[in-house]
Amino acid sequence: MSIAETETAPPPWRQLLGYVRPHRWSLIAGAALSLVTGATGLLLPLVAQGLIDDLAHDRAITGALLAMSALIVANAAVGALGSYVLQRTAESVVLGARRALSSYLLRLRITAVDRTEPGDLMARITSDTTLLRAVTTDSLVGLGTGGLTLVATVVMMGLVDAVLLGVTLAVILGAGVILGVIVPRINKASRQAQDAVGVMGASLERILGALRTVKASGAEHREEIMLHEAAQESWRQSVRAAKWSAAAGNTAGLAMQIAFITVLAVGGARVATGAIDVGTLVAFLLFVFYLMSPIQQVVGAVTQYQTGAAALTRIQEALRLPAEPAAASAPLPSPGTRPAELAFEDVRFRYAEDLPYVHHGVTFTVPAQGMTAFVGPSGAGKTTVFSLIERFYDPDSGVIRLDGRDLADWELPQLRAAIGYVEQDAPVLSGSLRENLLLGNPEADDDALARVLKTTRLDGLVAKLPAGLDTLVGHRGTKLSGGEQQRVAIARALLRRPRLLLLDEATSQLDAVNEAALRDTVADVARTTTVLVVAHRLSTVTMADRIVVMDAGRVRAVGTHRELVTADPLYAELAATQFLAAAD
Ligand code: ADP
Ligand code: MG
Repeated sequence: MSIAETETAPPPWRQLLGYVRPHRWSLIAGAALSLVTGATGLLLPLVAQGLIDDLAHDRAITGALLAMSALIVANAAVGALGSYVLQRTAESVVLGARRALSSYLLRLRITAVDRTEPGDLMARITSDTTLLRAVTTDSLVGLGTGGLTLVATVVMMGLVDAVLLGVTLAVILGAGVILGVIVPRINKASRQAQDAVGVMGASLERILGALRTVKASGAEHREEIMLHEAAQESWRQSVRAAKWSAAAGNTAGLAMQIAFITVLAVGGARVATGAIDVGTLVAFLLFVFYLMSPIQQVVGAVTQYQTGAAALTRIQEALRLPAEPAAASAPLPSPGTRPAELAFEDVRFRYAEDLPYVHHGVTFTVPAQGMTAFVGPSGAGKTTVFSLIERFYDPDSGVIRLDGRDLADWELPQLRAAIGYVEQDAPVLSGSLRENLLLGNPEADDDALARVLKTTRLDGLVAKLPAGLDTLVGHRGTKLSGGEQQRVAIARALLRRPRLLLLDEATSQLDAVNEAALRDTVADVARTTTVLVVAHRLSTVTMADRIVVMDAGRVRAVGTHRELVTADPLYAELAATQFLAAAD
């Protein structure tokens, strides 16, 4: 699903001004320098007029030539400085947008992530923001300086000869009408081109995330076709935008040439009747020539803005996805050492309005300390219990309480600081083992690290690794076995000194050593922390102080293994088949 366009979005230019505002002074400085370049350029025709006069009256032209050379050099220097300042400012605008988007995307609600293509979001951060560079320099500055230069030039032309100015303006107005038709087409094509880049990003992400499966399925060719199609679509739309941009640019250029010829003809006639002299005509023609650049600038600004507006709209859409409130970047709040107490009260929940309910009134309580196992067939809603505790989602009705307090009343960082969460198939991030462990608590000291490694029986593994804790693991590093990965994830969670540990046991088989290590670890932790385990193994289940049996979004029974084997037929069946098989 793509990111939906929202009706109340402010126009793109407002958003652009928002990104530009922090850099307005350097932008104005750059624009002023460009203006000075334009203004010094404007003096040239006057100097030229003087030079021709001097020639006509047999006067020396050294002074005029020197003035002209000085002007040209000064013009170039100021122009270079101005262009540097502007480019730098434009890069800062891109940086600002990238930072805003990056911060925002890290705060996205999981619900928003569920419904968007990560690859498309990535394209919005990387590719769409890049387009803001050109829109800042070419559009904003182009419109400002080009517009001002244009007005100044027109005023000067009026002072030189009003009749010839009238002729010039008539031609320009004609071109303006044609441009009014062309410009909206650039916007549409640009938007489609950027959308296609987003589709490509989404495809790439999908393929690279499952490259082994794609290869094993012999699906490279079909995936290649999809990627090529997206690339081709972006090309097609960009070419369309380029076509209309070229048409716009050349309409302006053509108009200026027509203006030049018309001015030459009308001006020539006026020279013949003696209404103006040759110097005046030459000066005016030079002005027409100088008008070319600000007009190209303004037209460029308008066409460039169309591309930028398309990108800005895409950025804005990403910034309107539901997100969690911005958290202060404060260090982790001290979670305290008291084990947490948890209660679900008639919780109903579905992942989206168009999806069926996953929890139909789930109720259970977990006292502080000890271990509670959740068992039930796949799809029963066990993992969802954990997602709700972490507030990745909020229940549609009912209440979840931690320490008697509704989760909705907790500050999110405080809530999550109290919890250690080990996902089912918890990922090991690429980087060193140390980085992986410190992810949730970068301030943990070596003692704490050593303790946790011992608890999770990872100390043996670390001793064997070539570079110990600094061994690279995960993607592009040493691959850890499933059991080791899981214990790394547990160690990572424990380093946060959680008051509540959520452990979603991997369904994959563990070897006997890993299994025993895991069991001892959990037993250790449960002495000081409230532990919730989604369990798939009898060894885990029998250890539990209480077992919650879930089926189809409801709690069927709660009890100990001994009680449930006789009291609950589903549990008895699970115990007889799944658990026992897994325990072999
Ligand atoms: P369990 O962990 O007991 O196997 P889950 O809690 O993972 O079950 O899932 C319960 C139901 O919710 C399943 O039918 C599953 O397809 C659905 N489900 C899980 N996650 C999502 C999600 N992010 N979006 C939509 N449906 C989901
Ligand atoms: Mg699950």
